[in-house]
Amino acid sequence: MSDPHELKVLDPATEEIVATVPAATAEDVDAAVVRAGRAQTRWAALAPADRARLLRRFADTVDAHTEELAQLEVREAGHTVGNARWEAGNARDLLLYAAGGAERLLGSQIPAPGGWNVTFREPLGVIGVIAPWNFPMPIAAWGSFPALAAGNAVVLKPAETTPLTALRLAELALEAGLPEHVLQVLPGYGGTAGRALVDHPDVAKIVFTGSTRTGREVMERCARLVKPVTLELGGKSPNVVFADVDLKAALDPFSFLDNAGQDCCARTRILVQESVLDEARAVLADALAAVVVGDPADEKTRMGPLISARQRDRVRSYVPEDAPALRGSAPDGPGFWFPPTVLTGERHDSPAAREEIFGPVAVLLPFTDEQDAIRLANDTPYGLSGSVWTRDVGRALRVSRAVRAGNLSVNSHSSVRYWTPFGGFKQSGLGRELGPDALTAFTETKNVFISTEGPAQ
Ligand code: NAD
Repeated sequence: MSDPHELKVLDPATEEIVATVPAATAEDVDAAVVRAGRAQTRWAALAPADRARLLRRFADTVDAHTEELAQLEVREAGHTVGNARWEAGNARDLLLYAAGGAERLLGSQIPAPGGWNVTFREPLGVIGVIAPWNFPMPIAAWGSFPALAAGNAVVLKPAETTPLTALRLAELALEAGLPEHVLQVLPGYGGTAGRALVDHPDVAKIVFTGSTRTGREVMERCARLVKPVTLELGGKSPNVVFADVDLKAALDPFSFLDNAGQDCCARTRILVQESVLDEARAVLADALAAVVVGDPADEKTRMGPLISARQRDRVRSYVPEDAPALRGSAPDGPGFWFPPTVLTGERHDSPAAREEIFGPVAVLLPFTDEQDAIRLANDTPYGLSGSVWTRDVGRALRVSRAVRAGNLSVNSHSSVRYWTPFGGFKQSGLGRELGPDALTAFTETKNVFISTEGPAQ
């Protein structure tokens, strides 16, 4: 039984307690929202250039603490140290990018008989950000920093298992000179602190990243208050590999093993043209055997543990001992380990091929031709990400336009850049984060008509 008053943060590689953090109550959330409301009025009244300057200072402070933040992420989330350094750098870079937006929140002027309309991008007010445990630092940053740049205050609830980097980011914001209560982090349970944020009448918008199941509930509750919501939810993304490519590149196992597969963009449905299926199996077997799984703090490690015993049990439930599969290795002993695995005996409609497993497990499935590949790629309620591998440029364009997903890559497995839009089709989400329009998602457009007729005599 978990204690409703505190959160125990475990190191997933050792199962040792890293920290114990008080869990926010609904009353704590209410008090934070009141403080945020007051702080937001002053924050929005600052000249955009001054807001931008403070955010750049925040970026410098994050930069000076990159190693500390990375080590914290290794300990609380089991991320490999190389990935964790990238994540701290991502938070810094997004701050710099968003800071540039503060002075570029432009409106339009629209002529009308007898005057002009002018539009303004008004900040929404207090934004509630609810983050998951798989990428605690980047996702806290994506939801919060563009909102701050647009003149909003943020109350952020990190996931139960991973509150530490978000708490540290809020301390660094104060150190950098951001006004008090503009960015508050409230660790707590989803059912209490998370729900209190969603239900609070003075929270103007919710940015939720997490499972589709919880996202659906968040959206329903926001609907009661007609509260806007951005949802970044689950995925079951395809990697569509045509026979004409370099299979070693196309079947890079880190397309689904990055972050031990706890990645919403993981390409966990490996769709391979049937003429090269045997070759693909051999390439994957070699690649899985070469993956170094172990202590995430070791620079040589490529894959760390899963986040928790619960997550490991869930992943295991999709991989029976006798399932036909290609398997890598994983350490024994303490820690929530699971070996890299590719299931080879699944059908397109089996649970392992349809449900988000959120671990280092993919399924290998054959397709016949382009139409079959598109049909299978789209045969999912999700639509977050995916890759298309082919040397035929026309086919690359046709398939990437036909796959119903928000973030596709051709002859590459990359998906998230802070300067390009990110988000899902279908049940993978609603709205977009990052990219050039990130700030506008945290504003309302106001139209003001200005008469040129002069006052009536
Ligand atoms: P989750 O839905 O269990 O929890 C996410 C967050 O919501 C946590 O902070 C949790 O405390 C909170 N929460 C739980 N119940 C709540 C409620 N009733 N009201 C308000 N908040 C509540 O998800 P998780 O297991 O932490 O994260 C993994 C999921 O996140 C995966 O499905 C993954 O695909 C998804 N994800 C999506 C993206 C994306 O950008 N699309 C990115 C990362 C993770």
